[in-house]
Amino acid sequence: MHDRGGADRVPGVGYVRGEAGYVAGQTVGATGGISHAMASRAIVDAGVRLVAAGLVAGQDGNISVRMDDDLVLVTPAGMGKGRMTVDDLVRVDLDGRVVGSPNGRPSSELAVHLAIYRARVDARAVVHAHPPTATGFALAGEDFMAPLLPEIILGLGGVPLVPYATPGSGALGINVEAAIHGHDALLLANHGAVTLGSTLEQALQRMEILEHAARIILTARLLGRVNPLTPEQLKALRELRDGVSPGGASTFAQESAR
Ligand SMILES: [Zn+2]
Repeated sequence: MHDRGGADRVPGVGYVRGEAGYVAGQTVGATGGISHAMASRAIVDAGVRLVAAGLVAGQDGNISVRMDDDLVLVTPAGMGKGRMTVDDLVRVDLDGRVVGSPNGRPSSELAVHLAIYRARVDARAVVHAHPPTATGFALAGEDFMAPLLPEIILGLGGVPLVPYATPGSGALGINVEAAIHGHDALLLANHGAVTLGSTLEQALQRMEILEHAARIILTARLLGRVNPLTPEQLKALRELRDGVSPGGASTFAQESAR
């Protein structure tokens, strides 16, 4: 479940209350949940962060937040993630119907976002990007299910490789929905990666962790030696994750390291 506990945290974005409160005419919802204005500001900032970190290029990638009224705010189709304003974002319902969009169409990958919100009630934000090193592994047909790094097991629940489908197709959404149980990040074959979070901040951090881990594993490969965690070490990490992430409880298979 997402965090509703703290007095000063806002579910959905991980923002401290008031940080985005300057957006005219919008307030935090009556339930104390995330307002559309705060989600908008958080998504725009997240786009800038993805570009700055080199996790997207051109018009790559898309970001969404599920709000307390079960509407989803998503980035528009055909726009660089570092150039968006709050007015560019598109509001849709969980069936993908546009319910508020003064200027644009929703992301072409909306089906992936909605598939994740259907499959994971704990997901309040989804980030799709093309992190270059992690996507290189996806291009090579590799996943991150081998027990190599604690952050992959604890933070992401292992990262399976989703079979290729045409970007923007409903088939990609179906493939993602089938794979997302127990995992907070997925590699998309010949395409990119997707992460979810109970806040947008968490989804972003998971994308950053995925790319960072990919670089580490690639470095070990270049050095010529990859020492996997032992079964006992993996078991301890899985128990830790299952304790802290009931929505993303591990479905890790006991796989041998490549
Ligand atoms: Zn993509």
